[in-house]
Amino acid sequence: MSKQPLSFQPGHNHDRCIHQALHKARTLCNERKQRLTPIRELVLQLIWQSHKPLGAYELLPALADAGFNSAPPTVYRALDFLQAQGLVHRIASLNAFIGCPHPGPAHQGCFLICRSCSSTVELESAPVQNAIHSSAAHLGFIIEQETVEVVGLCPNCQNSLQREAE
Ligand SMILES: [Zn+2]
Ligand SMILES: [Zn+2]
Ligand SMILES: [Zn+2]
Repeated sequence: MSKQPLSFQPGHNHDRCIHQALHKARTLCNERKQRLTPIRELVLQLIWQSHKPLGAYELLPALADAGFNSAPPTVYRALDFLQAQGLVHRIASLNAFIGCPHPGPAHQGCFLICRSCSSTVELESAPVQNAIHSSAAHLGFIIEQETVEVVGLCPNCQNSLQREAE
């Protein structure tokens, strides 16, 4: 699969993101004999509407509109499934969910989160995770959760803040 520019880079085609994400999700679930039920698929599609993490409660109105049971436990069950399959990651600092652009092999997320527009980019986590593992091992520390959430400003927001300041 060819690489496309990241969400905050010029030339990013988001329709392609959504299309690829749903395609990968269907393929993975098929291979694993897991059921991507209509509500699970819709929740995934809603999360992929943007590159901004969405909270469970933000999903409820769209589910109700689509005629699904929009009680919070239903949404949480769908989110649990998507998380267990590695199709979405939870951003703890925002208590919200983001689609994984490269689901498949299990991995911990490493994210750049814009504090202004909340656009979030998932980085290739292996080098970061390796550094964390070796530092922790050196200190005899047992890691239980190693999602990395880095907060800052995306290029677009840097530009608009600069314009405001001028
Ligand atoms: Zn996109
Ligand atoms: Zn991921
Ligand atoms: Zn931003």
